[in-house]
Amino acid sequence: MRHLPQAITQSVQVFYTGAEWSEIRLRLLQKNFQIGLVPTMGALHQGHLDLVKRSKENCGVTVVSIFVNPTQFNNPEDFAKYPQSLNDDLDLLKTEGADYVFTPSVETMYPQKSQMTLDFGPLERVLEGAFRPGHFNGVGLIVSKLFHLIQPHVAFFGQKDLQQVAIIKRLVLDLSFPIEIQTVPTRRENDGLAMSSRNRRLDAVSREKSLLLFQSLSWAKEELLNGTSWLEVQQKVNRNFKQTEGVSLEYFELVGTESFEILKAFDPDQKSSLCVAAEVGKVRLIDNLPVNA
Ligand code: AMP
Repeated sequence: MRHLPQAITQSVQVFYTGAEWSEIRLRLLQKNFQIGLVPTMGALHQGHLDLVKRSKENCGVTVVSIFVNPTQFNNPEDFAKYPQSLNDDLDLLKTEGADYVFTPSVETMYPQKSQMTLDFGPLERVLEGAFRPGHFNGVGLIVSKLFHLIQPHVAFFGQKDLQQVAIIKRLVLDLSFPIEIQTVPTRRENDGLAMSSRNRRLDAVSREKSLLLFQSLSWAKEELLNGTSWLEVQQKVNRNFKQTEGVSLEYFELVGTESFEILKAFDPDQKSSLCVAAEVGKVRLIDNLPVNA
């Protein structure tokens, strides 16, 4: 592991274009720094900062990108209401010791409307892919653009978006990006709610009800490990969501952790994860829990 000179660690440097970065990058490579990239959409919380911390542990230089990517939103209202807090984000990143922050404009990332569609096959026919048509095309596009512009050695993603991790790993494999992908565990609030930028939009009542996601995941995991059948577990969870006013379940599924194949039964010898998505009030939340690592 290499350490940066003091002068660079004391402040975070913001840049806006690939051209600016090319110059900075050349200088860093001359000093043999490993470059870590943490892609985000801003409105940062401790979960994002865990990724920054991991990058700092592994790389001499950490670049955080903050860009609310329009092409990954299938719902215009969700995009319009996505929280933004750039000044607070920069303060947090300074404290955490990130080195560079890339905050491009939409025009920089999409000089023209993209004509290209990325299809991830079976991986995107289920769960987030099925419920948010076009979402992973947008994710694949923006992550490919970031990989080309920043050219990091390592990129860091959160387990919170488990299907996204599978998509990115596929992207790296299929397009031969010479980039290592590291996954960082989900950071939760004390009561179990997975941290998310969207949590800021929950009112007090919805915040309380949002606990149903993690509680259901934890309960289901325990039942599966105790031998209850998946069908029975799933039915009970579905019923419980139906009975909770103000919460609308999209899916509660058991999947192969890497294949994202929907499983009909729990097999203790196969790596599997529980995944959930629900609208709480008007806020769409997702979460997941590995059953057997
Ligand atoms: P986002 O800004 O929501 O696009 O997230 C940027 C990155 O942070 C993604 O790789 C997410 O998976 C990750 N992330 C978001 N929330 C969490 C969390 N609670 N714990 C760990 N990583 C997270």
